[in-house]
Amino acid sequence: MSIQLDTPARPRRGAIPGGLDIKRLREQFPILSETIHGKPLVYFDNAATSQKPRAVLDELNHYYEHDNANVHRGVHLLSERATEAYEGARLKVQKFLNAPCLRDIVFTKGGTEAINLVAQSYGRQRLQLGDEVLISWMEHHSNIVPWQLICEQRGAKLRVIPITDAGELNMDEFERLLSPRTKIVSLVHVSNALGTINPVKKVIEHAHSLGIPVLLDGAQAVSHMPVDVQELDCDFYVFSGHKLYGPTGIGVLYGKPQYLELMPPYQGGGDMIRSVSFEKTAYNELPYRFEAGTPPIAEAIGLGAALDFVEEIGRDRIAAYERHLLDYATQRMKDIPGIRIIGTAADKAAVISFLVNDPPLSALDVGTKLDLEGIAVRTGHHCCMPLMERFGIAGTARASFAIYNTTDEIDFFIATLRTIVESSRDGKTFENRAAKNAAANAVEPVYPPAAAPTPHAAADEIIEVFDFLDDWSERYEHIIEIGKKLLPMPHILETEATRVHGCQSTVFMHSRKKPGTNDVLEFLASSDAEIVRGELALLQKVYSGQRAGAILDFDVHAFFARLGLDQHLTMGRRNGLAEMVKRIRNFAAELAGRQPTTPLK
Ligand code: PMP
Repeated sequence: MSIQLDTPARPRRGAIPGGLDIKRLREQFPILSETIHGKPLVYFDNAATSQKPRAVLDELNHYYEHDNANVHRGVHLLSERATEAYEGARLKVQKFLNAPCLRDIVFTKGGTEAINLVAQSYGRQRLQLGDEVLISWMEHHSNIVPWQLICEQRGAKLRVIPITDAGELNMDEFERLLSPRTKIVSLVHVSNALGTINPVKKVIEHAHSLGIPVLLDGAQAVSHMPVDVQELDCDFYVFSGHKLYGPTGIGVLYGKPQYLELMPPYQGGGDMIRSVSFEKTAYNELPYRFEAGTPPIAEAIGLGAALDFVEEIGRDRIAAYERHLLDYATQRMKDIPGIRIIGTAADKAAVISFLVNDPPLSALDVGTKLDLEGIAVRTGHHCCMPLMERFGIAGTARASFAIYNTTDEIDFFIATLRTIVESSRDGKTFENRAAKNAAANAVEPVYPPAAAPTPHAAADEIIEVFDFLDDWSERYEHIIEIGKKLLPMPHILETEATRVHGCQSTVFMHSRKKPGTNDVLEFLASSDAEIVRGELALLQKVYSGQRAGAILDFDVHAFFARLGLDQHLTMGRRNGLAEMVKRIRNFAAELAGRQPTTPLK
């Protein structure tokens, strides 16, 4: 694809707020000089995880090279040094959040674990039959499922604050949903899928006026704006290190001692005890009571270095710069007709979730094509399935920015996106689509015949072609080409019964026993994503027109491995592919009168 970089007449890029030297800042991130598919990396997947500066990488190395020992245990000097560094990191977190005391800061393995800790410990203690937990419609699964689990265990109910079409909390509904039954409000500070910055101070004030505590999920907030837990007056605040320029495997729970002191331990083990006998265990003081086992020592120390990095720049300056990126990118997105931005709250962080509606392109295809140009965005439901449902969509493509991103990168992204959209809109594609639609509406479906005498032979033919293709981008193009030849599936067959759930795009599969045979299976399939149409066409080539027994005996896992699909598909897409294979194998098992085994991990 050739990308035309144009110089926009508007909006103006403007001066970088706060006099930041972004070029020098970028030099601190070694990964930013990587090339992806031979193109310079443009990393716009910061809401999933941020990149790490040299200072964090050096700190991790230094710890392992010079100070590595277990904490709180040894009398020897190394253990003292490790303990000092680990507790030093806690002090940095305390200052970072402006928490009143060190004992309010609990290290966990991530934001998810921090929420589970509160749900299991506070929830187990406080929730009774008929009580309620209030969350919002824009929560990450991490702030839904832990509450669902504890509600099921305690007979409590999960209530959900609705949101507006712009992706803002409906505050009237929020107030209406609060009641004496509400035992906690657990709310995302900044939405990972929409970018909405919630009016958390107002929420807390109102909940507190009724004596209800509030947990804030700050996973998307802390690296982008100042957060002061005393000023907010929240009761719990959680975040992860890896979205904050720090390592994975570390998270933080801040809690007011009035709650933490009374909460039972979450996990048992070393470090969280004062004394143990077989009859009784006395628990340690805060925060150690909630840190069972050897903690993520290096990760906490790395997080400390990340906090230093952020503080050195200043969160006000980060917020101003990222606001500048968000405004610029939002304006420039408007240059591309047919794009719909999901999440248009007045107060937003630097996250742009979008869909290409005209021509309709699946987010999966948009993300895959951007990747081939070196641009990393996230596609799918962003771990917010109920939110996607609220907007009536399967998922979006999402560009999320961090302090090292630039307006030049945004220009390249916009130009690439425009090329993707325009090349899908050209006349040829339009005619193809019209022809396909006409065929899809034809009364008689045409099923693909066997591509070879056995699935094995068909697979060998496919592999032979793939072996000629050097890299993933060539293979990707080839899969897309194959997908273009997918025989049309009549729309009348696209029903709930033929819908394959668990895929990131909309997929339908319809199989039948070939007339005149006992055990030959043939099938039709469709998807709104061209990469998935390619995958379906590959499946048709190996399976359609084959005998059920041969289908069940075919090692599809080895086949995908030889095509390189296992390496290049995300877990979400592998799961989707596994669901499609399962459909076919279940049908084959029915025909053969056998039990299907699981072919794909
Ligand atoms: N909440 C939000 C809003 C998030 O974006 C994420 C991560 N995507 C989490 C919670 C969970 O964080 P982690 O996976 O790091 O535990």
